[in-house]
Amino acid sequence: MSLNILIVDDSTVVRMSIIRVLKIAEIPLDNVFQAANGQEGLDVLEDNWIDMVLADINMPVMNGEEMIEKIRANPMWKDMPILVISTEGSKTRIERLEQKGAKFIHKPFPPETIREVICEMTGIKHEQQV
Ligand SMILES: [Mg+2]
Repeated sequence: MSLNILIVDDSTVVRMSIIRVLKIAEIPLDNVFQAANGQEGLDVLEDNWIDMVLADINMPVMNGEEMIEKIRANPMWKDMPILVISTEGSKTRIERLEQKGAKFIHKPFPPETIREVICEMTGIKHEQQV
């Protein structure tokens, strides 16, 4: 099984670096979609099958928290795995995101961390080198 992943971050550089880490972590990827804010993220979700969302918090137009609320409000996406990746994040904000059913990891993080979290959240197995 390989994943369709949506990366929502207002920085192209950050999106690229997340994709690089996903590859280093050997996450089995099918399609990687990108969006620059929460609204674009919702638009991508409307039009594509997505297995997991990786999201930033601070973004113009619609921030990550508001996007997560809208995702959870849609019955189709209520169980969507959502991982918030940010340098920022107060304890209260992290708790609020977790209450909305998202996980949080601080940047920067080693590839092993994201591999572990993604495998746990999606149920995929890390494909060992043969
Ligand atoms: Mg940002």
